[in-house]
Amino acid sequence: MKFVRPASVEEAVQVLASAPGRARVLAGGTDLVTLLADRGADVVVDVKRIPGLGDLVADHGGVTIGATVTMRDLEPLAGHRRLAAVVDGARVVGAPQTRRRATAVGNVCRASPAGDTLPALLTLSATATVVGTGGMRAIGLSEFFRSPGVTALADSELVTSLNIPAAGGAAAYQRLTYRTSLDLAVVGVAVAVEVADGIIVDARVGLGGVGPTPLLAHQTADVLVGTDTEDPDALADVLVEAGRVAAHECTPRDDVRGTAAYRTRAVSVLVGRVARTALARTDTHDVA
Ligand SMILES: Cc1cc2nc3c(=O)[nH]c(=O)nc-3n(C[C@H](O)[C@H](O)[C@H](O)COP(=O)(O)OP(=O)(O)OC[C@H]3O[C@@H](n4cnc5c(N)ncnc54)[C@H](O)[C@@H]3O)c2cc1C
Repeated sequence: MKFVRPASVEEAVQVLASAPGRARVLAGGTDLVTLLADRGADVVVDVKRIPGLGDLVADHGGVTIGATVTMRDLEPLAGHRRLAAVVDGARVVGAPQTRRRATAVGNVCRASPAGDTLPALLTLSATATVVGTGGMRAIGLSEFFRSPGVTALADSELVTSLNIPAAGGAAAYQRLTYRTSLDLAVVGVAVAVEVADGIIVDARVGLGGVGPTPLLAHQTADVLVGTDTEDPDALADVLVEAGRVAAHECTPRDDVRGTAAYRTRAVSVLVGRVARTALARTDTHDVA
């Protein structure tokens, strides 16, 4: 197996193109090392020394997360009303050692149905900037995840960054696990809300662990829109209804972490909890 450390994105893409389907990008390696043991590779392309890929640029409420930005590097976004949802996910990945190596882009490219940053990135309308031999393109994360472990990336393509557009409102992510650390999500839920004059005027709900890919629950989000957040009884009823609709929007399966029935129930409860956290953040977090 050849190990290459390219000095530029262009060089990395050329190396990937030289061994189609048999070259693998190495970021933090926290997933790749296990994947290599199962599937092998002819070439491993370590992108960590490519200038610019480690940049995290927050600008007027939007952010660009470079390909080698680690989970720990995302911490400065924690005080931001919306971007904090991504940090909620990053903070529960593995252990501190894992978070110093693991990248957000690697989490996206691994495309696990239960990846912890993915529901939040979906709710925040993130796109992946991708460079290949044919040039650069942007892929919305809704189109990026195809099936467990499978993405829209072509063999020679490298994700150079994730881009979250600026928008109003606040967001949050929480997951259910059996242990508080070093455990993968049974289910994960992200909710983004925008409130004007006490009314939810926009909402997005992302679900993980309840289908072949992380997904956006559009009907659940529609239930939230129009809710008067200053009427506690109305809000409580709507959150229960949103949980009920979310349970119908997902297609979980049984596995070692839980049955489909348990996951469905867990999602219906988590949606309300996470929505409350997101709503609380509309008041309490700073806006960057
Ligand atoms: C102990 C442990 C605990 C973990 N716990 C969690 C957890 O709680 N939640 C969770 O979501 N994950 C968890 N993981 C999985 C893993 O840490 C994450 O998925 C991580 O974000 C992957 O990032 P990485 O930089 O290590 O990616 P890598 O392992 O380097 O790469 C992952 C995949 O993405 C590809 N890739 C990486 N970067 C690019 C790029 N720029 N362009 C194209 N392809 C690319 C690689 O080729 C590989 O196929 C855990 C892993 C370990 C070892």
